[in-house]
Amino acid sequence: MTTRVPKVLQMIGELVAIPSVSSVNPKFDQGNRAVIDLLAGWVTDLGWTAEVLPIPGHPGKANLIATLGQGPGGLVLAGHTDTVPFDAQYWSQDPFQLAERDNRLYGLGTSDMKAFFALAIEAAAGLQPTDLAEPVILLATADEESSMAGAQALVDQGRPRARHAVIGEPTGLRPVRMHKGMMMEAVHVHGHSGHSSDPSLGVSALEGMHRVIGDILAWRGELQAAHRDPLFRVPVPTLNLGRIEGGDNPNRICGDCELQIDLRPLPGMDLAELRDTLRRRLQGVLEGSGLHGDVEPLFPGLPAMETPADAAIVQAAERLTGHAAEAVAFGTEGPFLQQLGMDTLILGPGDIDQAHQPDEFLALDRITPTVDLLRQLVRQLCVRPQ
Ligand SMILES: [Zn+2]
Repeated sequence: MTTRVPKVLQMIGELVAIPSVSSVNPKFDQGNRAVIDLLAGWVTDLGWTAEVLPIPGHPGKANLIATLGQGPGGLVLAGHTDTVPFDAQYWSQDPFQLAERDNRLYGLGTSDMKAFFALAIEAAAGLQPTDLAEPVILLATADEESSMAGAQALVDQGRPRARHAVIGEPTGLRPVRMHKGMMMEAVHVHGHSGHSSDPSLGVSALEGMHRVIGDILAWRGELQAAHRDPLFRVPVPTLNLGRIEGGDNPNRICGDCELQIDLRPLPGMDLAELRDTLRRRLQGVLEGSGLHGDVEPLFPGLPAMETPADAAIVQAAERLTGHAAEAVAFGTEGPFLQQLGMDTLILGPGDIDQAHQPDEFLALDRITPTVDLLRQLVRQLCVRPQ
């Protein structure tokens, strides 16, 4: 079957035209419901069963689970419908008006990753439910770029269930089976302020934080000595001291100090365990000092992802693309789909270099190969043998 490129471009244009920015900053945050409804309408017309699942506590936001065929197993083609906020002044065009020039499609969400939905729908076009031994499921989520509330809601609901998943995040059409996790934690040290002329009048949170930082860097060294994976460009877990704030005036003993850290664990490192260790070490350092400390997650954290190299979806994608599956530095909703029991692969037409940038684009020559690739995956994993 040939790919109907004009039809696909029209669909991408309609998806890009609907603003669906998500942000932890309420000033920029928008709903995604209109994108979900557009997708639901398209697939319903093509004979899929579409369910729109509003996200509890997030008005105007929803996930979509659309299914063609039935039964256990199956392949999920997944993506997020939200985009990051944009700097209008750095765009050379309207970010919501798809523009074709220099063999590229420009627009917000072309690469990351609204276009993927049009390609996935085109890949399944022409299939009848009776052709399928296992279902094809289109999964569209909310809030990937901010809270991951969409993916979390799916885990809470235990849906969808399937055997394999492809998330069409920008990987330049190379299969990716591993990424690091991400944690951002605030470490607080509380002491007692007082006049600087007499140290006995207070307990310095800043001096306590000095010892805490020393211990955190020692912990980083231990983590990096214990964990290494050469598939990653940076093969060890990283821990960055990103921000610190404490005290008010040179002539006052500092009463409170806050440090914010970013920790990127490798697959196999458990977020809750890391957070526990951080808390325990903090208590240990501060014990007997008159200071107390606590650790506050700045967001729930994203686990690392690793799909086994011998998973059917990995093997099929490696054969079809001619590339061995890789590891990347960015996070995805993959760990949530894994929690739902799917072997998850990240594989999409865009390039991560274009994501989150002004003048984001998707190269036109990625469209047909992506549709062909998805069509082959569907054929190998879901279509009933003739
Ligand atoms: Zn993305």
